[in-house]
Amino acid sequence: MTRSITLLGATGSIGTSTLDLVARNPERFRVHAVASGRDWAKLADVARASGARVAVIADEAGYVPLRDALAGSPIEVRAGEAAMVATAAEPVDLVVAAIVGAAGLAPTLAALEVGTTVALANKEALICAGDVMTAAARRSGARILPVDSEHNAVFQVLEHVERISRIVLTASGGPFRSLTRAEMAKVTPAEAVRHPNWSMGAKISVDSATLMNKGLELIEAHHLFGVGADRLGVLVHPQSLVHGLVEYVDGSVLAQLGPADMRVPIAHALAWPERIPTPVKRLDLAAAARLDFEEPDRERFPALALAEAALAAGGCRPCVLSAANEVAVGAFLEDRIGFLEIAEVVAETLDALPAAPVATLAEVAAADAEARARAHSFAAHRARR
Ligand code: NAD
Ligand code: MG
Repeated sequence: MTRSITLLGATGSIGTSTLDLVARNPERFRVHAVASGRDWAKLADVARASGARVAVIADEAGYVPLRDALAGSPIEVRAGEAAMVATAAEPVDLVVAAIVGAAGLAPTLAALEVGTTVALANKEALICAGDVMTAAARRSGARILPVDSEHNAVFQVLEHVERISRIVLTASGGPFRSLTRAEMAKVTPAEAVRHPNWSMGAKISVDSATLMNKGLELIEAHHLFGVGADRLGVLVHPQSLVHGLVEYVDGSVLAQLGPADMRVPIAHALAWPERIPTPVKRLDLAAAARLDFEEPDRERFPALALAEAALAAGGCRPCVLSAANEVAVGAFLEDRIGFLEIAEVVAETLDALPAAPVATLAEVAAADAEARARAHSFAAHRARR
């Protein structure tokens, strides 16, 4: 049966990989809507190429150019955040949530509230508002299928949560795995986004370089699998071939392996509970020859420790962490602060704001806004020095 799909973040790295798989399986998938942030020209291209019925641009200023670019096609054009949320709530078999950052929160929640299965790449939505998201999914019966490679790996080898003794997420260690702090102080945005194993959007590439990404993923895993911080771990594995491991109470460890190509976990989520062929390079263990593992270094990569503390504290702390990190990464990418200052700005923001519970989306939005304002001023203060 054909599966209808709405793709949020259609022009990004995950969006592009998703559309590649959809195009290879036209009998299985039909695209209902594609959505993106401001890049109307690229959105027009992917809307036409994918045969989408609807194209939504978050930036209202993108409406006229998108409409003009799609003139003569039957594609309906919409713009603005409300349109994004309304589109996410339209009935389809699967919403692929691949917007970057907290901007993905409201549309992802809208899909979950109406009971649509969500293939979730937008980890920030779960990190900022995990309890709100999972409660909405429980109420409506919506399923969340993890797209993030480590979580998808765990999902693939998960038997019974109550028989798990530990979940371990692997981390490549990023481009600066072997650098000293003094060397890291001098790295440029261009170096930070050049990931050794994965090709990804700018924000997550920087998060991988600071190891914040792995910390965010621990919080994501907590919400996806209902496992506490005491049973979640991280291992640095530079080859990025083992993506996630589940240790069971009897001592068995099940792991998922595969090439470092996001089309593998995306294909798994798109086709679940079936599987579809993908064109990815096959895993050649003999050629790889070895798999290395090491403990992460939380002194050289303090962002990981900050995220672990936020997970342990719960409430608004993960949201404050994630919002401050988005601002700090943005400032780094614009060359306003240095690489090491990303974690410093996040730490300052966490120190400046009190811990508080967050039970509703409005409370999450308030915590997010306050954290962003503080982080902006800490980043600006540093930029002036
Ligand atoms: P990207 O920067 O390549 O793409 C982001 C997409 O979000 C674009 O389509 C952009 O137009 C859209 N967008 C931005 N702001 C928006 C807004 N306000 N409203 C609507 N759309 C908006 O990012 P990416 O690498 O594809 O990552 C997307 C998400 O998936 C992130 O949360 C990331 O952490 C997660 N993820 C990515 C990878 C990867 O390999 N790229 C792996 C795991 C998880
Ligand atoms: Mg990941």
